[in-house]
Amino acid sequence: MMQWSHWEWDTWFRDTDVVIIGCGIVGLSAAIFLKTHVNNLRVILLENGTLPSGASTRNAGFACFGSVTELLDDLAQSSENEVFDLVEKRWRGLQRLRTLAGDTALNYETHGSYEMFKPDENVTFDECMARMEFLNKKIAPITGEQQTFSLTDEQISRFGFAGISHLILNRSEGQLHTGRMMQTLIQLAREKGVQILNGINVETLEDSSNGVIIHTKNGWEIKAQKALAATNGFTRRLLPDLKVTPARNQVLITKPIENLPIKGCFHYDKGYVYFRNVGNRILLGGGRNRHREQETTDTFGITQNIQNYLKKMLHDHILPNQNVEIERWWSGILGIGERKSPIVRKVSENVAVAARLGGMGVAIGTLTGEEGAKLLL
Ligand SMILES: Cc1cc2nc3c(=O)[nH]c(=O)nc-3n(C[C@H](O)[C@H](O)[C@H](O)COP(=O)(O)OP(=O)(O)OC[C@H]3O[C@@H](n4cnc5c(N)ncnc54)[C@H](O)[C@@H]3O)c2cc1C
Repeated sequence: MMQWSHWEWDTWFRDTDVVIIGCGIVGLSAAIFLKTHVNNLRVILLENGTLPSGASTRNAGFACFGSVTELLDDLAQSSENEVFDLVEKRWRGLQRLRTLAGDTALNYETHGSYEMFKPDENVTFDECMARMEFLNKKIAPITGEQQTFSLTDEQISRFGFAGISHLILNRSEGQLHTGRMMQTLIQLAREKGVQILNGINVETLEDSSNGVIIHTKNGWEIKAQKALAATNGFTRRLLPDLKVTPARNQVLITKPIENLPIKGCFHYDKGYVYFRNVGNRILLGGGRNRHREQETTDTFGITQNIQNYLKKMLHDHILPNQNVEIERWWSGILGIGERKSPIVRKVSENVAVAARLGGMGVAIGTLTGEEGAKLLL
């Protein structure tokens, strides 16, 4: 281990108030919140990757708060209050993100989102139709939109889909540029004086009566008053008792497609499969439910079985009879659990956690980071 020089210690590490672990949307939002409210706080953000390396730079950029099947699924498992409180949080979270970063920086666009159904899903579809009015009534006071969901089967042929029998529109959801979102948040945090150090893996957190010692893989021991783990899908490595399960998601993007008629975000198979247009390309990801055990991992990677499944979806249903080339594949790591809501709490006197964002981190990441930060003040 290389020892810090006096200058390094004096410039970067002396009198550290807060160390945040994880430079995703949650860690960055927490850091920005702390520096906005207590300007002279010394905040260090430690990130394992050279770039943020979890979900926040690798997601699909859906600015979403729930499709019909997803909400009905949630209602089967949680109380009505719990489900619509979370919808409200997602909606408020999206508005906070848009205010913080700005729609231009985010490349924010509202083309709506759609849920698609195949002919063998008529039972599910019928249930969605039967409950649509109820959902619209519950969501109206949150978004101000009276008819969030409506049937829009006439769009199936306009988009050029094959083997799809129904399409339900959610007119209030949008989409953004994930990379620009993160770049803007990093810039905001730096402008406020947050020190972001990349390539630093935190191995353990030692809490004592007079603060926290953060032990890093490269042998550093950073002393701080408080620490926040914003480590999402990797949380169990640092805090093994917490119920956060990693879940890998694989994604592809096509090369540009001339006269692409598809605009908006699309959910299929209860949200396990998702695609959208990125300009005149298609981004498509998901399918982890097809190979659950294999995809319960925090190791990045692309596998043949998921690739085949997504390619089939692309060629059979989304862009049928078209010779489309795939430009790039990647994967990202989600943090999931039994419940949809994130874990935001203290784990010891001076250490808090804000993690387990599931597939909705773009919507709730900002507020979750802020809630985590408040636990440290
Ligand atoms: C493929 C994919 C598609 C998705 N699509 C959408 C979408 O369209 N809309 C949506 O709302 N959500 C989507 N999500 C979910 C969303 O991206 C996440 O919920 C959100 O980004 C989580 O943010 P986070 O800050 O909690 O975690 P992350 O972005 O994962 O950040 C955690 C960071 O902590 C770092 N870290 C972890 N452990 C350590 C350690 N010990 N030391 C140092 N650093 C550490 C990691 O390197 C990582 O950068 C998607 C996720 C994936 C993977």
